[in-house]
Amino acid sequence: MNNIILLAPPAAGKGTIVKLLCEKYNYVSISTGDILREKAKNDSDLSELLKSGKLVPDDVVFNFLESKLNKLDNISYILDGFPRTKKQAIMYDEFLKSTNRSLGVVIYLDIDKDELIKRVTTRVICPNCKKIYSLRDEKFAPKEYMICDDCSSHLKYREDDKEDIFEKRYDEYLKNTLPLINYYKDKGVCILISDYDAKAIVSRISSLVNYND
Ligand code: AMP
Repeated sequence: MNNIILLAPPAAGKGTIVKLLCEKYNYVSISTGDILREKAKNDSDLSELLKSGKLVPDDVVFNFLESKLNKLDNISYILDGFPRTKKQAIMYDEFLKSTNRSLGVVIYLDIDKDELIKRVTTRVICPNCKKIYSLRDEKFAPKEYMICDDCSSHLKYREDDKEDIFEKRYDEYLKNTLPLINYYKDKGVCILISDYDAKAIVSRISSLVNYND
């Protein structure tokens, strides 16, 4: 199966789409946001950086990612939240070349800023199993208010899911990540999806990458 890079603005619902794809196919999900949040539990500087909505330095993110990828042997994966800058994309290209792996497909989810703000203020996450819920969309709402369906933990808002922090994350996205669309378009591997419904997005990705259902 092709590896997938999922490029999208903050709060576009990448995590939900990745989860649906992993349930449907034999993918491993690699979220640099999840890796960094885990590392930040023992690193107060990193924790402050994440709370601010700013990007973590390229080398730091790449080192964490590289050690994760080196442990995967012949398993297809979905990159969620990486690359976020052109420098990261170039570092990743060099890594692929040196390890003889292929890039796969790049999916770009184009979602309107107003919709993102609605999503960011109603998104809650299970701190234990990381399942993501929406308090706005009943398809993705927990059965019991603020309780995880799968492990019964108390759901939480993400610390960077506040509207003012979202604005900073969105600015970072416009400045650093959006230019990557052209970087990947030039390589002929970038597919644009403008749908808002997670299940419709998953079925479109499935048809684009030609899996046998
Ligand atoms: P996410 O869970 O993908 O929304 O990421 C949460 C936060 O982690 C971001 O706002 C950044 O501070 C940091 N982060 C995640 N991935 C990256 C990356 N590839 N490069 C730099 N910072 C990142």
